[in-house]
Amino acid sequence: MTSLHDPIELARQLIACPSVTPVEGGAQQLLADWLASLGFTVHHFLDGQAPDGPVPNLLAVRGNTGPHVAFAGHSDVVTPGNGWNGDPFAPEIRGNLLYGRGAVDMKGAIAAAVAAMATLPTDHPGIISLIITGDEEGPSRFGTLSLMEHMDVLGLRPDLILVGEPTSQHRLGDMIKIGRRGSVNVWITVNGQQGHVAYPHLADNPATPLVRILGRLKERTLDQGNDWFQPSNLEITDINIGNEATNIIPAQARARVNIRFNNEHGGQDLIDWISGIVAAEAGDKGEVRSAISGEAFLTDPGDWSTIIAGAIKAETGLEPELSTSGGTSDARFLSRWCPVVEFGLCNATMHKLDEAVALDDLKQLSRIYTQIFRTAIGF
Ligand SMILES: [Zn+2]
Repeated sequence: MTSLHDPIELARQLIACPSVTPVEGGAQQLLADWLASLGFTVHHFLDGQAPDGPVPNLLAVRGNTGPHVAFAGHSDVVTPGNGWNGDPFAPEIRGNLLYGRGAVDMKGAIAAAVAAMATLPTDHPGIISLIITGDEEGPSRFGTLSLMEHMDVLGLRPDLILVGEPTSQHRLGDMIKIGRRGSVNVWITVNGQQGHVAYPHLADNPATPLVRILGRLKERTLDQGNDWFQPSNLEITDINIGNEATNIIPAQARARVNIRFNNEHGGQDLIDWISGIVAAEAGDKGEVRSAISGEAFLTDPGDWSTIIAGAIKAETGLEPELSTSGGTSDARFLSRWCPVVEFGLCNATMHKLDEAVALDDLKQLSRIYTQIFRTAIGF
């Protein structure tokens, strides 16, 4: 019988489940068994269809009334790649480190959360839930978003959410995330008319307006940043004409841009701005296609971040930096509901070969999580 108080043992067992997105790999079943034995009501879902599904999702809930705190995370891992010293799905302790895919991102944090639940009495006040998706590392279309729909149907909405992504930099607890930038990709196509370069009056070169469009996009300073975010930034990520001939004016020119934007913008506003410039420079020969990967969000520093920072300080002595750096995470979805803060293990080896977590960090993280949950439900 597994001791559910031991985050190291729980992490080992979770890592041994080969749950590369979107494969369940036994990880959620293991979690379900543990959480059921801790008095949680466990719901399994299989959401969506091909090509972005079906995705295994798990929701576990304990308690009926009072403040509701949720731990959110993902049981899937990125593909291990070749070149590991050892089997990425055969967890191994060498020295003070536990090696295996998902050790820090984020089976270690899930193990720490489960061990924290195990230390709380089952009849605690308030509601504690675990929101665990099987697709955070993939398209994420039927992951956390689907779980949120299920929770709406069940009438469950957390008051506070802790996301266990690896946010620590050099030492456990030195950084938590209170927001993230948004991200949008835009594909621009300009159509023209092919012809001989010596007879430009008989052709229409789409490269000319495309260059003007890109110039105008890069000209604008989107903002200056603010107290919590760095300035928004547009990067041209591709320019493609694909014309091998030196004497031909091409018929089509394409480009792609990515914008990482802060909370002073919405994804659609940025798309509308780009569409306007394309229309002005290329008229009806311009086409715009876009995809918002996620909106920016900010959980204003306040009660929730203070609770988390306080628990970190009490256990480690560190005052965590409140950051909005890095890529997107599923917190972008959950932040529609309530204050969301991310705090987890050191991220130096995430997604890398020989991903590893310090054994002491696992134990310490579990103690910090325990303190956070206790304070959140007023226990
Ligand atoms: Zn992750």
